[in-house]
Amino acid sequence: MFENLTDKIERAFKVLKGHGQITEINVAETLKEVRRALLDADVNFKTAKEFTQSVKEKALGRNVLTSISPGQLLTKICHEELVELMGGAEAELQFQGSPGIILMSGLQGSGKTTFSGKLANFLKNKKGKKPLLVACDVYRPAAIDQLHVLGDQLGIEVFSNKEEKNPVKIAEAAIQHAKSNSFNVVIVDTAGRLAVDAEMMDEIEAIKKALNPTETLFVVDSMTGQDAVNTAKAFNDRIDFDGVVLTKLDGDTRGGAALSIKAVVDKPIKFVGTGEKMDALDVFYPQRMADRILG
Ligand code: GDP
Repeated sequence: MFENLTDKIERAFKVLKGHGQITEINVAETLKEVRRALLDADVNFKTAKEFTQSVKEKALGRNVLTSISPGQLLTKICHEELVELMGGAEAELQFQGSPGIILMSGLQGSGKTTFSGKLANFLKNKKGKKPLLVACDVYRPAAIDQLHVLGDQLGIEVFSNKEEKNPVKIAEAAIQHAKSNSFNVVIVDTAGRLAVDAEMMDEIEAIKKALNPTETLFVVDSMTGQDAVNTAKAFNDRIDFDGVVLTKLDGDTRGGAALSIKAVVDKPIKFVGTGEKMDALDVFYPQRMADRILG
């Protein structure tokens, strides 16, 4: 996916080769191609437009040094703008508190349960924490079992109660359990639906209100392209989450979500999922992602 976008941008920059300087006309020509490449990669229209507009203004405002070609300068400016668009520096996860509470939200199949396991593993092994995983999907017993399987695999305790049908009660009991047993981070996995619906939103909102989490994360499948941005907006409007987890970046995804989400909901991407295994988790670095996009 990214190769595709990179190739297209590179091809677009070739338009500038042979031109001695950056002019309004040759920049416009190239950026038209860049914009098309971004749209093809599922970046939303407004974001792509603002991006190219901003690159254009910066490019025209800069003197071209003799040591750098207009194409290289434009690449550099695109890189800087991409980093900016994706939030500048990496955004740290907040997990302090006694215990720190991290709440997952997102659609079914987005990768919440997998990410909950990955995050617990990360906090245990990289941050020296004692995490407790909590299964709050009261609709799908299989989701509870899935979290138990991951917990067993990772040597991390999973709190669940298949008899209780109120996720708020399960989460509250889990926090009491964490306090009495010196767990210092509680990771709450919640139910998701196949599409945004009122009942799911009411539920996640009630859980968030009751728990007052240290961090609420929105987990989204990067393969869903433009829908990822719309879903992010729907969740953010309702629960005002703190950060985004972009999963399945290892797949055949077009990556546009990474560019658009920050711009549309103004929340940072904090982690990316790069596989099904428990160690396939990366902190999101805007610099690295911009490198990857531009090649
Ligand atoms: P949930 O319904 O939101 O809890 O989603 P799951 O955690 O059950 O994930 C749905 C599917 O996506 C499972 O088959 C996971 O193994 C898979 N999955 C989750 N994260 C990733 C990822 O980063 N990369 C890949 N390739 N698959 C993932």
